[in-house]
Amino acid sequence: MTAFLSGQNGMAETLISAALLRLSLDRPYLTAALWSLRRIPTEEVETMAVDAHWRLYYNPVRVVSDWSCEQTAAVLYHEICHLLRDHAGRAPASVAGDTQAALQWNLATDAEINDDLLAEGQPLPGSPILPSTLGCPDSLTAEEYYARIQKQDPQPPSGVGGGQCGSCAHGVMEALEAVAATSGITGLPEGEDQLVRHSVALDIRSTIARRGRGTLPGGWERWADELLAPPKLDWRRELASAVRRSLAETAGRSDYRYARPGRRQAAMPDIVVPGLVQPVPRVAVAIDTSGSMGHDDLACALSEMAGILKALGLREGVTVLSVDTAVHTCRNVFDPRQVKGLLRGGGGTDMGVALAAVESLRPRPDTVIVITDGYTPWPVQPPQGIGRVIIVLTRPTSCPTPSWAKVIQTKP
Ligand SMILES: [Zn+2]
Repeated sequence: MTAFLSGQNGMAETLISAALLRLSLDRPYLTAALWSLRRIPTEEVETMAVDAHWRLYYNPVRVVSDWSCEQTAAVLYHEICHLLRDHAGRAPASVAGDTQAALQWNLATDAEINDDLLAEGQPLPGSPILPSTLGCPDSLTAEEYYARIQKQDPQPPSGVGGGQCGSCAHGVMEALEAVAATSGITGLPEGEDQLVRHSVALDIRSTIARRGRGTLPGGWERWADELLAPPKLDWRRELASAVRRSLAETAGRSDYRYARPGRRQAAMPDIVVPGLVQPVPRVAVAIDTSGSMGHDDLACALSEMAGILKALGLREGVTVLSVDTAVHTCRNVFDPRQVKGLLRGGGGTDMGVALAAVESLRPRPDTVIVITDGYTPWPVQPPQGIGRVIIVLTRPTSCPTPSWAKVIQTKP
């Protein structure tokens, strides 16, 4: 029996890998999400389910005997839609501890996904829940379907795509997840899911840039637009004023610098002639990665970070630090996509540590931007030798901020 199962498991592994490969060839912009799934073979699940921590449970015997590669790909696509659309995070509070409400929300989210998938020609196996199954029109949100089916008796569950998709749909821990505990397979670390979404959204943006708008199926363009909401702040203006300040401070010697040879250099090879340089601000950005920074705070940090890079021009780059009570990473970044891999932390908060680290950078930045939820102590004195400190608050807070910094609210 064990040999049979391990043979089945090998076949199921191959089937799932082939289905994932097929999906990522068809929809390359979903690749970051597809390969973030962590697989757990188990007979505890009917066919397939995914939990809110991106763990994929599959029944090796049933998957191989019931589904083709195309159908497996369609089911995986369905589950990825739950995760990317953050159905667990969007679930109403009432689903906690109420299995009936959790089932209704799962059905509502399935209806939200499946009309899109059918329009894309995805061959979902079994009888997937559609808006019409719930007596509703197509193209509504899960929240709208949920409100409409409140008074209905939930449909009898019919597997994945039919109200039994795992906690990826509602966030309520299920008995199945005990299998993960015993297998020792952990899910995505806290906050990493938001970074995967961000990375997928950036890949969608670059696909649109290549292929043009209206070329991606399934509402992904709108989804990416919403996720990558433009930065709230006008970084071009903020950083231009930082340049003006640093120019004013070094008035009289800022027009000519020895940074690169002047045009007359060739004629006078032994003397370094000052060159006229266009000053750009040296910018460091410290991102608060403490435990109190939630999904929205990180999304805000990433979108402002993209705005900062755009305003500076990618050529210059920005030093990015991820800091909770310690500096976890410090790197020069040229592309918003690089930021994802840098964010580490999850502990307490002390942005004074970030400022001390920036003070010791060489060359020293002209401007430091700290992106934080504000739940942090600040030093009494500003960092030495740095022209400007800008604190960007990702949410309204009554916590005190230092008078020596410019404080900007992204959500007044
Ligand atoms: Zn589902």
